[in-house]
Amino acid sequence: MTTTMTTRERLAIGRVRMPELAATVRSSNFEEVNRGLGSDDALREAQRCIQCKNRQCVEGCPVGVSIPEFIGRVAENDLAGAARILRYDNALPAVCGRVCPQETQCEAKCVRGIKGEAVAIGYLERFVADWAMENAIQLGMEKPPPPTGKRIAIAGCGPAGLTAAGELARLGHGVVIFEALHDTGGVLRYGIPEFRLPKAIIDAEVDRLRAMDVEIECNVIIGKTLTLAQLRQKFDAVFIANGAGLPTMLNIPGENLKGVYSANEYLTRINLMGAGRRAEAATPIIKGRNVAVIGGGNTAMDCVRTARRLGAERAMIIYRRSEAEMPARVEEIKHAKEEGVEFLMLTAPVAILSENDGWVAALRCRHMELGEPDASGRRKPVPVEGTEYDIPADVVVNAVGTGANPLLTATAPDLALNKWGNIVADESGLTNLAGVFAGGDIVRGGATVILAMGDGKQAAAAISAFLVS
Ligand code: FAD
Ligand code: SF4
Repeated sequence: MTTTMTTRERLAIGRVRMPELAATVRSSNFEEVNRGLGSDDALREAQRCIQCKNRQCVEGCPVGVSIPEFIGRVAENDLAGAARILRYDNALPAVCGRVCPQETQCEAKCVRGIKGEAVAIGYLERFVADWAMENAIQLGMEKPPPPTGKRIAIAGCGPAGLTAAGELARLGHGVVIFEALHDTGGVLRYGIPEFRLPKAIIDAEVDRLRAMDVEIECNVIIGKTLTLAQLRQKFDAVFIANGAGLPTMLNIPGENLKGVYSANEYLTRINLMGAGRRAEAATPIIKGRNVAVIGGGNTAMDCVRTARRLGAERAMIIYRRSEAEMPARVEEIKHAKEEGVEFLMLTAPVAILSENDGWVAALRCRHMELGEPDASGRRKPVPVEGTEYDIPADVVVNAVGTGANPLLTATAPDLALNKWGNIVADESGLTNLAGVFAGGDIVRGGATVILAMGDGKQAAAAISAFLVS
């Protein structure tokens, strides 16, 4: 078929399915679950797009990717053209094609979804980005313009920091990213497991930035190694993108027992430090037979699916609402179920129990029911008295959420914060301090990769305007 197809012919094509590694195979390894589309499927899927004049899909994308344009190129089999368009709008397309919740963003707005299934925009994004990486395509826009002589410091090497760095370098500014950990990528590397986002993808995206002369200094904690005041003295502007990685406590008895992890610690040990998979890893992890993960978001799914891969016979999600209220992506829930994860819904933890040896032995839970909607719009879970029971558990992972880490802000007393400790910034990312911008989770609280990237993009434009004004 060619691009001269009629709309009727396009409408007749059914949505492609993502090839997946079989659940029986993948639940004991860390290989990527989604295998990516083949070229025939991608071309065919691209032909489903009817190239709307009123581009609703673009409105649904926080970084405004020119979706019909790149998909149009795929339909014409001009993959280099598609990659150029995609890369221009989105600094991390291979990442977004894997982890963005397209079903609530671009695909939720796609007109083809009104009477059927939306165009698989995310699958196509991944296809084009992977193709460009595999073919080492030079996209012709990575050579920076003449240096402006301006230098910007970025605190944090997650999606917000990486995106801002790429945009600023593209404009000819000098960029140094300071990262507290010993490696790049933020949550993309230490949080999201290999079976959803291979580390090689992050490496490739980071290498591309380095090729644009972005400097990355790891093991530098802003607020300890250097302060914000020092960055302001040494650089023309600062972008703070240090995420929101401080675990929210459960505040129940037994939280300090051995075998209880925060999701951040659990995933970081495994994803960043190789614990659990390498015998020689310096940072061990307790591999429980019965692992209870508390929470219902993407983080909880990542923890429970990781526990399963590490050999848990019972890997359980403990969630106080019902499945309909779970914030995790639908695909993650589906994959977790296929891999044998148990979902204990309308169940809240009351205490973590031990047999007086300091180690976790069980999780005491209580049944819940749904009441009236709360401030979040979701129906509030209400305890059902007298329904407590114990679930045997040797590992408990707290994945109920994270907040702003005060490490950086504690040494910047003039920086305006909200009551949760998040940095206050306007739409462009500008804080109350001249030349200091912020974006991503440190401003929004725990959000998404693409929103963090959108903030990085906006802030880069605002920083550049500030520097030339
Ligand atoms: P981060 O990614 O947190 O990066 C901040 C970086 O700053 C980190 O590298 C950190 O080490 C560094 N840093 C912190 N303090 C300092 C300091 N003082 N000095 C220097 N550096 C510092 N979103 C999705 O869209 N899809 C998903 O599937 C998804 N899955 C997720 C799974 C998990 C397990 C988690 C935890 C989150 C997930 N999210 C997902 C959310 C998403 O990853 C975040 O919203 C996003 O990474 C935020 O980007 P960021 O750049 O603001 O911060
Ligand atoms: Fe194509 Fe859907 Fe966007 Fe229309 S809304 S241009 S069909 S992706």
